[in-house]
Amino acid sequence: MMKVRRYLRGSGRVLGFVFIASVVWLLLDMAALRISLNDQTGQLLKEQVIKERHLFKQQSRVTQQMRRGFKHPVQRIDLAATETELGLLNSSNKLSHVYRQGGKKQEQMFGDKKVNSVLHKGDSLTKADKPKASEQKEEGALKIVTPKQGDPAKKKAVNWDLNGQKVEQVHNDSNKVEAIKTKVPPVVQENKNALFPTPKKGPGQNENAVEIPLHKADSKKKIKDEAESMTETKASQHKVEDSHPSKATLEPPHKDVKDKGVKPKAEDNKVETFAKGDLNAVEETLKPTIKVQAGKDFKKEPKVVKKSGLHKVLSMDVTNAPRDAHAVGQFGQAANVASAENVEVRKRWDEGHFNVYLSDQIPVDRAIPDTRPDTCVKNLVHNDLPSTSVIFCFVDEVWSTLLRSVHSVLNRSPPHLLTEIILVDDFSTRDYLKEKLDKYMSKFPKVRIIRLNERQGLIRARLAGAAVAKGEVLTFLDSHVECNVGWLEPLLERVYQDPRKVPCPVIEVINDKDMSYMFVDNFQRGIFKWPLVFGWSPVPEDYIKKNNMTESDPIRCPVMAGGLFSIDKKYFYELGAYDPGLDVWGGENMEISFKIWMCGGEIEIIPCSRVGHIFRGKNPYKFPKDRQKTVERNLARVAEVWLDEYKDLFYGHGYHHLLGKKFIDVGNLTDQIELRKKLQCKSFKWYLDNVYPDMDAPLVKADGLVFNRGLRKCLSLQKNTLLFETCDLSKRSQHFNYTWTRHIQHQDLCIAPHYKGNGFTLQPCESTKSELSWVHRSSKTAMGEHLIAKSVALHMCLEAGPKGDTFHLNSCDSSNSFQKWQFTHYYAQWFD
Ligand code: UDP
Ligand code: MN
Repeated sequence: MMKVRRYLRGSGRVLGFVFIASVVWLLLDMAALRISLNDQTGQLLKEQVIKERHLFKQQSRVTQQMRRGFKHPVQRIDLAATETELGLLNSSNKLSHVYRQGGKKQEQMFGDKKVNSVLHKGDSLTKADKPKASEQKEEGALKIVTPKQGDPAKKKAVNWDLNGQKVEQVHNDSNKVEAIKTKVPPVVQENKNALFPTPKKGPGQNENAVEIPLHKADSKKKIKDEAESMTETKASQHKVEDSHPSKATLEPPHKDVKDKGVKPKAEDNKVETFAKGDLNAVEETLKPTIKVQAGKDFKKEPKVVKKSGLHKVLSMDVTNAPRDAHAVGQFGQAANVASAENVEVRKRWDEGHFNVYLSDQIPVDRAIPDTRPDTCVKNLVHNDLPSTSVIFCFVDEVWSTLLRSVHSVLNRSPPHLLTEIILVDDFSTRDYLKEKLDKYMSKFPKVRIIRLNERQGLIRARLAGAAVAKGEVLTFLDSHVECNVGWLEPLLERVYQDPRKVPCPVIEVINDKDMSYMFVDNFQRGIFKWPLVFGWSPVPEDYIKKNNMTESDPIRCPVMAGGLFSIDKKYFYELGAYDPGLDVWGGENMEISFKIWMCGGEIEIIPCSRVGHIFRGKNPYKFPKDRQKTVERNLARVAEVWLDEYKDLFYGHGYHHLLGKKFIDVGNLTDQIELRKKLQCKSFKWYLDNVYPDMDAPLVKADGLVFNRGLRKCLSLQKNTLLFETCDLSKRSQHFNYTWTRHIQHQDLCIAPHYKGNGFTLQPCESTKSELSWVHRSSKTAMGEHLIAKSVALHMCLEAGPKGDTFHLNSCDSSNSFQKWQFTHYYAQWFD
């Protein structure tokens, strides 16, 4: 019996074993099935994404790139939620609807020329020096020899010069640098087609190109092999070295700030607060700490030769397989809102001046189409790129767009290149931006929040963010963006190649009504028109052809849009950061653009880096003071510091009212002017000639002889007396300028509209003296060719006596030819 029992027990064991084994087998089988199913679903989703993206590329192509905003307050149209606009909630929105300014207005801004014709003088763009074909072909035999300590042997490093040519530098102990031109590794897509002539190196600039040590880039093949063998994991494991080993020259600004009262609070959720009163201290630290002269000593610092390989740009995007492929706005598609909901849409519009209602329904981590030019995925970047702090400043930003901005950075940036995300709350009033935001962001260790206890405005908020940033590079973004696949590395690569390069992504359009991600045309660059109005302009076809430019080549830009860019942190401070005297919003993009170019740097648009941005018709936040006055004051500060004699063009294009201190107090400019001197920045004329040669910038409105139609004689100034003479172009005494500040000027003297006896008084010219101004209009207008003394009551006109021996002011009469004056040359078509 026992035997039987034992037997049964034994066979039971076996049976049990068999049973358990089959269960395990079954489970494994099911798991395998699930995995393969998951694979298939993932694959399907991925395919769908690719398909959708392809479709999007075709459908939502926008013919003209949106701009961050036209900042001229007079020319801005508020496109806010008007009834009509809200009716346009469908994917067929035309670009003009998302422009901050309608197409019509845009044409007006550019005078007779349409935006597309801005570059009509494109031929004047000088072809940048390019490496010759033979230089490009030659295989590299570049060696990096790291000198032993105390070894007098020369150190070789590979460099890129500003034209994308590699320059081999030979350093020796006496710090002499010889530049030997070598070649460009063909696989690295470089700035071979610089759009503009490379600025000639001036006295304030070092001749050295920045050092780009390549990892024994012996041959084309080797680089290729390296790139191919590099996997994403490998790259992300790569430790970022300090590529700018000269920190000692500049105190890390965040240190100062901490000392002076930035109080980290609530460690658990990483919120830092600028306590009341501390802001003065912060402002103090935000003032530029310049210890190095940009473009001069910057490159003289000791360089460390690093071994660095290259890899293909990482296309990481954790949103590639979205949780819900059918979610609203998924893949960046346009979302329609049923008409019944329009009330809701309208109700919530003002919270952000875009479709907030819709935005709140779209996943904060939605997928968007990869809009990069096809070649971008093959581009190589260095393994040891510097890492960046991404700084988002916001005031009362909409919850869903702020989150989407942050998630897009977290999801589409290689983690090793993202030091942190700094959210600078510029004294927002909305409750959800306080504890709720702290709590939400506490899940993301890389996100830090700093709060300003007083409204500082975009410019000083950015400075506050920069002051606490730990990354080597600062990347500023608006708080309603979506960074696209592979957006970061191409920007950092440019900074790596030359810390004086300031790369900007292509700014794409997130439609403010249907929230679709809109693809914009390539070959656009940022420009400005008078009076410092930012705009976009296409690079001319023939220029593209002539220079063999491809869609992915960096585009050198006279000005940046301002909202989105990366900059080497040390360089940012060497440049004196932003002028901290700029208030709230506006003009800061002009300031930093002029400063960068004139003080030795470069601004580029990098087509392989793309970031969507919601362009709003109106600022959704309040300006502490009058909006228009704030922007005007900012622009006037920029004009006074950077424009030299060209500042008259700024005032002359609609800002006459700013002349004369009684109208505007631009604040103290001493620091800014000092800074410009210290940095040995070039002149604005240099900037126009070298960076923006197609810009129309005549220094006067008209000049030459001043011919009186009735008398048929010309004005002459002799021995401080005005008189008439037979016209003679060769006589200097008959040469006058009609300036942008509306003065009739002969050398240093201006004709004042006050007459004594038979003549007019002459006064030393000063552009701020509005009492010296004469309004002179084009002949097409009613008072064409008249010279109207505006400061005189009733606006009198300058009239020649019939015998030619007197002048006087008389009531204006459009038919009186003795009141008609004509200059020999007119340089501007528009007169006011
Ligand atoms: N901003 C800020 N403080 C201000 C004004 C603006 O922090 O006083 C932020 C704003 O929230 C946004 C960025 O600065 O993230 C740029 O402003 P905005 O988007 O209004 O500029 P636009 O894109 O219209 O030129
Ligand atoms: Mn914005």
